[in-house]
Amino acid sequence: MFMLFKMQQNVKIMKIDGNLIALRSFKTANGNGKHVISGNGNGHPHHQISAIEAEQMGDDHSFTSIETPMRPDAFLLSDENKIANIEAHFEQIMQTLGLDLTDDSLRGTPHRVAKMFVKEIFHGLNPMNKPKMSVFDNKFRYGQMLVEKDITLKTTCEHHFLPIFGRAHVAYISNGTVIGLSKINRIVDYFARRPQVQERLTVQIAEELKKVLKTDDVAIVIDAKHLCVASRGIQDDSSSTITSEYGGAFKNDPKVREEFLRIIGY
Ligand SMILES: [Zn+2]
Repeated sequence: MFMLFKMQQNVKIMKIDGNLIALRSFKTANGNGKHVISGNGNGHPHHQISAIEAEQMGDDHSFTSIETPMRPDAFLLSDENKIANIEAHFEQIMQTLGLDLTDDSLRGTPHRVAKMFVKEIFHGLNPMNKPKMSVFDNKFRYGQMLVEKDITLKTTCEHHFLPIFGRAHVAYISNGTVIGLSKINRIVDYFARRPQVQERLTVQIAEELKKVLKTDDVAIVIDAKHLCVASRGIQDDSSSTITSEYGGAFKNDPKVREEFLRIIGY
């Protein structure tokens, strides 16, 4: 459920699944060659950066906010209308590249790509697609560390729209509330099905688990390869990127953190 509850100047603040998201109406390049980069709901300032700075930002894989920057009209169009729009635009991209769309092999590609964006790899942009989280009490598990390692992770770099793939390792110390193991995979998968930055993905998963499990004692490590690093730019296909987020006992007690890292083999 999302709710629009405040609007001032051109900034809207929406509440989506309990998260505050500040949205700024998007402007194309103005006379100064500047683009408006949308802000976030975490109190970070909105700011303008030049096109060159924006390109550098993508190369550095830095990002502006923990919330995925979304437009206020993100969910006004139906999935079917989005697919039709993207299909037409992707056809233009292919034609601009000089590809012959009357060829039987290419004919269906614009529709395939559009459907894949909306229904599969960016399915997690829409809060309506968030997995239902049923938690249950299990006092027997109180104080125990639960680790789920080697969760398959597939997401998409928001700077290059190329795949990021690897593994997520998640742990929590139950305060009596537990969730089904497959739900952890589903939370990882939901936030991964968006254009992402690995650091943001890591924090989004940790924050969601804290909320669902009603505890700060949550840890996550993501170890992933970026196709945009492997196949372009520096063209390094052997390195991987490791990000982590530790809350509660994992943050404050080195022994707890070490136990988690030893279990996942780091
Ligand atoms: Zn990238």
